Amino acid sequence: MAEDTCPRGHARTPKNTYIYPDGIKHQCRPCKAAATLRYRSTPKGRAAVKRANHTYEISLGGFLRIRTYYLRTAREAVLRQLADLAEEEACLM
Ligand SMILES: [Zn+2]
Repeated sequence: MAEDTCPRGHARTPKNTYIYPDGIKHQCRPCKAAATLRYRSTPKGRAAVKRANHTYEISLGGFLRIRTYYLRTAREAVLRQLADLAEEEACLM
């Protein structure tokens, strides 16, 4: 009888049961949804929601720093390849 419903009276069906990625822990979906809503109304939960929804705008300065970094990395890669080629040629001679 205890197997048929959760402590709050929701039916225990496979569709109604969330199984955690560990494959062992499980929770009634309606209860889990209610718990999520409760969590989101706490200061900690509100902060988490805000953090999750936050989008970052790239400033021009940040954009240029990233471009510069990529260009430097690409140049270093080309120079490394040229050095390898020169070494190979030296071996052939
Ligand atoms: Zn429940």
